[in-house]
Amino acid sequence: MSKKVSLTAHTNIFCIIGHPVEHSMSPTMWNPALQELGLDYAYVAFDVHPDNLEKAILGMRALGIKGMNVTIPHKENVIQYLDEIDPIAKKMGAINTIKNDDGVLKARNTDAGGAKKSLIDAGCEISGKNILFLGSGGVARSVAYILSQQANKIVLTDIVEKSALTVAQEIKQNMGVDIEGKLSKKSILKEEIQKTDILINATPIGMHPKMNASPISKELLHEDLFVFDVIYNPLQTKLMKDAAKIGCKTLGGLDMLVNQGVLAFEWWTGKSPNTTLMRSKIIDFLGIK
Ligand code: NAP
Repeated sequence: MSKKVSLTAHTNIFCIIGHPVEHSMSPTMWNPALQELGLDYAYVAFDVHPDNLEKAILGMRALGIKGMNVTIPHKENVIQYLDEIDPIAKKMGAINTIKNDDGVLKARNTDAGGAKKSLIDAGCEISGKNILFLGSGGVARSVAYILSQQANKIVLTDIVEKSALTVAQEIKQNMGVDIEGKLSKKSILKEEIQKTDILINATPIGMHPKMNASPISKELLHEDLFVFDVIYNPLQTKLMKDAAKIGCKTLGGLDMLVNQGVLAFEWWTGKSPNTTLMRSKIIDFLGIK
């Protein structure tokens, strides 16, 4: 049962900054989870214009704000104002979580960590596996960085070949791993998918309201694939349904979204939140089916 917490002079603040930020789901999933554990924190959202980013971080230091999530467009630029960056987040050049450790601002990227935790929780073995990404945008890039530490080989594909080549080249240089970028077209996907263990959709194809679309033809799928679709609305995308029909294990994007919050929650409070509660708050907020 949730414990009653009233805001007092002792209440500490966690927050998210972004621009815009009013659509953020973080306060919705964080506050009930904090209250349930009787933790004396409130989680709020601040719209911070890029011109004010440094001042916002000075504000975090001055006000003693204990934890800050960072969303678009600040994930890269904020790094210059912080004290300690987790090694992999430093290589990615992007963070989303800052902890104020007695005045020392430490940062991590729990977006990528949340994706990895979701795969592990779903029973997906990453070590030694071949991973094929559809899309090479922001999400593909950060997830590819973290999974490249354990995968055998990663292939990034994109409808813009140059994007896939550029991101793959950057990760290869920074991580020293086996990764290639390719054009996302049927003949290439057909060849690549035969060698693939884990297929990750990191494109918006299949997202609400265009839920009948899939980024890959179902005849290319095979039953040995683990299919991870980072889309969380709808909960079951067409790709996931196509894959489940032929016997693939599937995972949607909601757990990744919740887990980026869970990892921050555990880091900031030292306690584990009720993930079922966090999931249900997001589902209610978005009206996802
Ligand atoms: P993004 O930066 O726009 O990247 C998507 C990339 O995929 C773009 O390069 C796009 O090319 C490419 N693409 C589009 N259609 C394609 C296709 N059929 N085949 C191959 N590549 C294709 O987007 P993002 O920020 O990475 O986000 C991707 C998706 O992740 C979002 O739609 C959202 O649903 C999801 N997401 C999930 C979470 C979570 O926590 N689960 C968090 C954030 C985002 P063009 O630019 O030319 O279109």
